[in-house]
Amino acid sequence: MLTFAADQGFHGEVKRRVLEYFRQTGLSPRDSPRMYLKTAVLLLWFGASYFLLVFVAATWWQAGLLSVSLALATAGMGFSIQHDANHGAYSNHGAINRLMGLTLDLLGASSYVWHFKHNLSHHTYTNLVGADDDIDFRPFARLFPAQPRYRIHRFQQFYLWALYWFLFPKWNFIDDFKSVIRARIAGHRFARPRGGRLIELVAGKALFCGWAFVVPALFHLWWVVLLLYVITSLVLGSTLAVIFMLAHCVEEADFPTPPPGSDRLPDAWAVHQVQTTVDFARKSRLLTWYVGGLNFQIEHHLFPRICHVHYPRISDIVEKVCDEFNVRYAAHDGFFAALASHWRWLRRLGRPVAAETDQPGGENDERHARQQHTGPEGDLQVFSKHEVQTSE
Ligand SMILES: [Zn+2]
Repeated sequence: MLTFAADQGFHGEVKRRVLEYFRQTGLSPRDSPRMYLKTAVLLLWFGASYFLLVFVAATWWQAGLLSVSLALATAGMGFSIQHDANHGAYSNHGAINRLMGLTLDLLGASSYVWHFKHNLSHHTYTNLVGADDDIDFRPFARLFPAQPRYRIHRFQQFYLWALYWFLFPKWNFIDDFKSVIRARIAGHRFARPRGGRLIELVAGKALFCGWAFVVPALFHLWWVVLLLYVITSLVLGSTLAVIFMLAHCVEEADFPTPPPGSDRLPDAWAVHQVQTTVDFARKSRLLTWYVGGLNFQIEHHLFPRICHVHYPRISDIVEKVCDEFNVRYAAHDGFFAALASHWRWLRRLGRPVAAETDQPGGENDERHARQQHTGPEGDLQVFSKHEVQTSE
């Protein structure tokens, strides 16, 4: 089992300073009025898009635009409401978190499975090959340097975007069921849902099928319903995937592997979280609002139980502490800079290894993977803490 190096004081200090911020300002990390208002806006947006699409739209262009609107509202709910709630960051009251967390089930994905897939697998083992289930598109993509490269990956920077389109249907109708049947996510066992949680999972899927297919089919031709479902899914899947990928699958993010023969990673958990994550477009208030603070994923990974509305203010504190502890803090100025970095990362990992560097060695070679990582192409050089220490 993978373990992390002992913390050298960074985690304690960053927690102390952020808690001090809340003490000084008198703000609560959860139950923010802004978050409740935002929830109302997103639910209204979602409800209005659905109602107009199913009951009012009279032309093709209206139906198309409303499908896009429904997809963007759904993604917004996913980024903000369910994500905070299922982390316990929405409210101090467990019941409110559970209720808001169930919005994920309403949208067709199981909040029960999400807890293990996202909260435990992704948030504990961020960017660790085979252990971070949120970043795994095998065999279609090579996202980690330690993953095997197939010939088709040479073109992954072009075709992967199309696969992002189908992320949501795959998640709803394949991945959730596969995880529950196997009772395993990224090599980690988890208890299959029972009793109320099982009913919740099944009822969530049924409810989703009801509003997404059955109700619209009562008023429209089945193929029209299916076509608009596909349009909504394409916009939704690519929005979710791109925002997620820009935080972890870019040139500036670290993809560490333990030394050969060991399961112990070179960095402490909190340092690992910062170095495997990259912020972007931190000054864009509109983007920050829409993506539920997921452009501040460094802050989210360090403080997943703090409501995202606080991330912009917290980021100044986190960046300062990182600087003091010599922990690399990476951020792209804008959305498109992050998007370009994601594209370059896909291109780099899809290339034949021999063409990429002159070094011999297999594609799974850890040393080689790190060379790819610190290559000249990136805007920022990436060094692990271990490497920084040895170079001093
Ligand atoms: Zn999260």
